[in-house]
Amino acid sequence: MSAVLLLRPGADLAALHAELHRRGLSGQVLRSDERAAVLVSGPARLEALPGVEHVLSQDTPHPRVEASSPIVDVGGVAVGGPELVIIAGPCAVEAPELLEPTVAAVAEAGAQIVRGGAFKPRTSPYSFQGLGEPGLDLLRRAADRHGLKVVTEAMAPADVPAVADHAELLQIGARNMQNFALLKAAGRCGRPVLLKRGPGNKVDEWLLAAEYLLDAGAPGVLLCERGIQAMEQPTRYTLDLGSAAYLLEHQPLPVVVDPSHASGRRELVPRLARAAVAMGAAAVMVEVHVDPSRARSDAPQALLPLEFARLATELRRLASTLGRPDPARLGSTPLGAFAT
Ligand code: PEP
Ligand code: MN
Repeated sequence: MSAVLLLRPGADLAALHAELHRRGLSGQVLRSDERAAVLVSGPARLEALPGVEHVLSQDTPHPRVEASSPIVDVGGVAVGGPELVIIAGPCAVEAPELLEPTVAAVAEAGAQIVRGGAFKPRTSPYSFQGLGEPGLDLLRRAADRHGLKVVTEAMAPADVPAVADHAELLQIGARNMQNFALLKAAGRCGRPVLLKRGPGNKVDEWLLAAEYLLDAGAPGVLLCERGIQAMEQPTRYTLDLGSAAYLLEHQPLPVVVDPSHASGRRELVPRLARAAVAMGAAAVMVEVHVDPSRARSDAPQALLPLEFARLATELRRLASTLGRPDPARLGSTPLGAFAT
């Protein structure tokens, strides 16, 4: 059995540890900010322990997820905080003459984080596989020129150090959601992680994948809904906003919605992005390309810079109309909404 305890502000951790020890239990500090969270293994009447405000969850399969902060710091950009975060960029890092104007356009439109894969997971081995490490350099330099943070994918444990050197946020792709060796390596790299949901994975499996990352030491995890395989015909996948709503209500990790991979069609991206912001997603992630006819992957879903600029303005307006922060997620007690 394990339980997560949420402590009162300023609680005496040493006194708690001493009492746990006296009862033959041990505690591990999961979060040590103003309101510490402690994971305890073993049966006990935990409410009666010194400094404990309440037992956040008992017998949870994902204690570290439940004890996480609802705000993740991506190089100074707070994801899950009051401000809507927009992540945008090409599917893949390509030649500088395509990358540079795309990155300039997403920065100009107000995105805070640029995306772009240097290691591309492709269904066919004959499709463009990405530029590899030179692509990471190109992306980092373009982002720095325009004052943006970087998210990019690591496909294998061997990619993790280079990705961590070049990006503030490491991406785990949908098809790698349950690559446990990769999750462990990513969790150890010191960067927060954007974890895409596998198209065939249940929410519980997704949360356990997040638990792998946090258990390995990840300083934060973003859950990215990017569409699942259901009954779709005209769209690439089915954007599962129902699961996103569930996550927003029942666990603290920030939820990111990717309408580009979910729909596979540029004309559908704005509607889905607006739905995501309307429901309270912390961030949206959108593919943009300065010239989709020359894109080497995912051309049909890439927005043109002008379309993206219009969408970004709409999304910000929508977020402020709805009032952020979302009081249900960021109430007086940071984790209060998720207490069992
Ligand atoms: C991507 O974001 O570039 C990507 C490959 O997405 P997914 O893993 O969701 O298919
Ligand atoms: Mn893509």
